[in-house]
Amino acid sequence: MVKAVVGANWGDEGKGKITDMLGQESDIIVRFQGGANAGHTIVNNYGKFALHTLPSGVFYDHTTSIIGNGVALNIPKLFEEINEVVAKGVPMPKILVSDRAQIVMSYHILFDQYEEERLGGKSFGSTKSGIAPFYSDKYAKIGFQVSEIFDDELIKEKAERVCQTKNVLLEHLYHKPLLKAEDIVKELQEYRKMVEPYVCDVSAYLYDALQNGKEVLLEGQLGSLKDPDHGIYPMVTSSSTLAAYGAIGAGIPPYEIKRIITVCKAYSSAVGAGEFVSEIFGEEADELRRRGGDGGEFGATTGRPRRMGWFDCVASRYGCRIQGATEVVLTVLDVLGYLDEIPVCVGYEIDGEVTKDFPTTAKLAKAKPVYKVLPGWKTEIRGIKNYDELPKECRDYIEFIEGELGVRISMVSNGPGRDEIIKR
Ligand code: GDP
Repeated sequence: MVKAVVGANWGDEGKGKITDMLGQESDIIVRFQGGANAGHTIVNNYGKFALHTLPSGVFYDHTTSIIGNGVALNIPKLFEEINEVVAKGVPMPKILVSDRAQIVMSYHILFDQYEEERLGGKSFGSTKSGIAPFYSDKYAKIGFQVSEIFDDELIKEKAERVCQTKNVLLEHLYHKPLLKAEDIVKELQEYRKMVEPYVCDVSAYLYDALQNGKEVLLEGQLGSLKDPDHGIYPMVTSSSTLAAYGAIGAGIPPYEIKRIITVCKAYSSAVGAGEFVSEIFGEEADELRRRGGDGGEFGATTGRPRRMGWFDCVASRYGCRIQGATEVVLTVLDVLGYLDEIPVCVGYEIDGEVTKDFPTTAKLAKAKPVYKVLPGWKTEIRGIKNYDELPKECRDYIEFIEGELGVRISMVSNGPGRDEIIKR
């Protein structure tokens, strides 16, 4: 069976922890989109890790970790991460890389930086990991697929073509040093050596695995609102963040995805620019940021302070619907234990009218949050294992959100650790 773990919001919902936890009962864990631009933070018996490229299943010795074709594969970053986990005592993970994955090149990262510089204050809040230039090249058909880098003639010819178009931009738009085809070839030959032992026809591998009854987990990065089609375009990422894309980015039939476990955080946070209706500011935001996550809400990749806000039922209901959530996991609930009262955004006021439907970006920019204020529980809930032992106000908060989402909350996470989870 295939399960997907995906985010309903802007990312950082705590998917890494949930994947790590569900990894226990999985045989194969697949990353199907995104790249090294976002990260998951995982706390387990080996320590605390920030993973960007490796699936969150690498900590188990019974799982195979797969980089699917939909991923923006940054080969040096992948190996840096493998070395880091092994150095901290994790057994060498079993890793497979799709022969159809494409490679993030050093010039993609440069182009990302140059474009951010050029846009100045009007930038899209890129993490400068090369992701947008990478996916642009993939669809412009000048990307390098892993399968191609074993053919020297092919990469030489393609490197020339890449230089032709890129150098026009470098010279006239960015005024930066030009690319040389031989450097691109050298870079690819280097990558070839690194990646060769792991290359695999992943869709065929998964087909066999599913025929043999294996448990497969698809691990999403970021969340619904960062999807290029269904998110807050243009402040989105460059590959689909939706469970549906798991079928494409892993190479499996869509009907195999039986459970879409959609992760929502008990409050909101976002990195980078973009509409964020229930955002809060000042001391109120600073306190939530300081107490949030596991040691504060700061980006796992960039260290940037995350923007903070109250739980947004409008955005989260939409985020769950567009994912096709079959169940919701509500995370980081323990963090809210300091609040006397907890506002929850239940509607958007747009041009004087209140709506519960999440609009397209231009309308979203005009939306003002309509809050309902729920009582806080004012106690520490970490360590609680049974739902019934949670304070009544806390259960009311969960059940109110469940009602607004219209999807069952199957698990509540009350701490960063693997076992800090309450099943309902
Ligand atoms: P992801 O990208 O969706 O995996 O999310 P991140 O890893 O960026 O952010 C989640 C953060 O919250 C990490 O630091 C986790 O260790 C932490 N975390 C996850 N679940 C919980 C929880 O239930 N309580 C607390 N306090 N922290 C949590």
